[in-house]
Amino acid sequence: MGIAGHPEAANLTYLGLYALQHRGQESAGIVTRDGGENHIHKGMGLVAEIFSQPVLATLPGRIAIGHVRYSTAGESSLRNAMPFLASTGQSQIAVAHNGNLTNALAIRSELEGHGSIFQGTMDSEVFVHLFARARGTLEERLGDMCSRVRGAWSAVFLIDDVLVAARDPHGFRPLSLGRLGPAWVVASETCAFDLIGAVYERDVEPGEIVMIRRGRLRSVMPLPRAPERLCVFEHIYFARPDSLVFGASVYQTRKQLGRELAKAAPVRADMVVPVLDSGSVSALGYAEASGIPYENALIRNHYVRRTFIEPEQSIRMFGVRVKHNPIRELVAGKSLVVVEDSIVRGTTLNKLVTLFRGAGAREVHIRVSSPPNTGPCYYGIDTPKRADLIAANHSVEEIRRMIGADSLAYLSLEALRRIETQMKHGFCDACFSGDYIIPVDEVGTAEPQLPLFEPGDGAEPEPER
Ligand code: 5GP
Ligand code: SF4
Ligand code: MG
Repeated sequence: MGIAGHPEAANLTYLGLYALQHRGQESAGIVTRDGGENHIHKGMGLVAEIFSQPVLATLPGRIAIGHVRYSTAGESSLRNAMPFLASTGQSQIAVAHNGNLTNALAIRSELEGHGSIFQGTMDSEVFVHLFARARGTLEERLGDMCSRVRGAWSAVFLIDDVLVAARDPHGFRPLSLGRLGPAWVVASETCAFDLIGAVYERDVEPGEIVMIRRGRLRSVMPLPRAPERLCVFEHIYFARPDSLVFGASVYQTRKQLGRELAKAAPVRADMVVPVLDSGSVSALGYAEASGIPYENALIRNHYVRRTFIEPEQSIRMFGVRVKHNPIRELVAGKSLVVVEDSIVRGTTLNKLVTLFRGAGAREVHIRVSSPPNTGPCYYGIDTPKRADLIAANHSVEEIRRMIGADSLAYLSLEALRRIETQMKHGFCDACFSGDYIIPVDEVGTAEPQLPLFEPGDGAEPEPER
């Protein structure tokens, strides 16, 4: 999130981060600039736990960037929290990055060979070092920096008094540009604009670098053009349904996924039950297209954080157990079609099918509104290594048996691609299709997503494909 030209820059960034909290719950931070000086506050935990009115009062200025983090590279710790702020001699630079740089390890080794000293272990720090070494005008230095990094980045920078927003040429992760009166706002998702009353203007384009200085916006496209690869998983799972992502309504896409699923994988059942929250909209689409009534028969405890994001497997297991509870009176003796957005390790559904049967359900049919997740993501979604992806190692029938469902069906890749085509952009669906635009051998064994710089600290090499 970034904002330029508003007297309440820190407060508005705080609110924007609040709206973007679903994108990362491990740490958060805000950097502002006032009178030639930067101010920063970062902490571990949720936005509301880290910032208070007194803390926000220590962040003066009309320009700010902010970040919520969930780790895809480097461990979850305060030293890896963003924004990352550094002095480069003549300039001060702060960066808030969403995505995953696939060549960060190589760049880091090279820079360390030239004497650069890194403070953290995560990929985003290489931006700062590359910028520090670049020469020329701001535009030239940014172009130089961006031409060195590969992979996924949607990033905001605060460089002296300039707000910069940049997106990698494939455009994996979203980044939107909006206006709040005379102020400019950038955010990963438009739900942040809605909260602060900003108006969505357009997306920062893949490969575009936008510089906002004294109320004026300048845009450059210094990088070679590349095929668009917008992350389809943002629409399937990650983004909030009230956001426009890549210019399309996440809600409407999810509903369409559910409708297509109902057409391709019908089943006779008494009710459609969503796995809240992420399965709710596709379940509505499934109910609408199938004519089967929709029932919120699985209640979710909202005070349990998104289970998947917790880095430890032990916490994840516990999370699934405390998170959902079926309504016995609704499901007893009934046949259910349970709609989920994705299966990663299979942990959630394994527990849920047991819960439904324990509550007396007669039949439990599982429908998944995305194709089998057969490969890891190297571009900024924290999917586990291939060995832990249930669909990478088992057939649909084996998975059905493992989770104990009466039937199991996924959305087909063809159906997903039809929906991608309707959105009129080029999409990445590599974790479902295996079509990695940045080859796996370039990132796979060398740079697993988690502990990027600390092999041995839980990082296991990706098995060969
Ligand atoms: P599983 O339990 O099979 O390991 O994971 C599937 C569940 O995790 C689904 O409920 C899905 O909504 C959620 N999920 C899928 N991908 C992600 C992710 O990248 N982050 C988080 N937090 N949850 C995810
Ligand atoms: Fe998104 Fe999957 Fe591509 Fe990663 S591999 S960017 S999660 S579609
Ligand atoms: Mg879910």
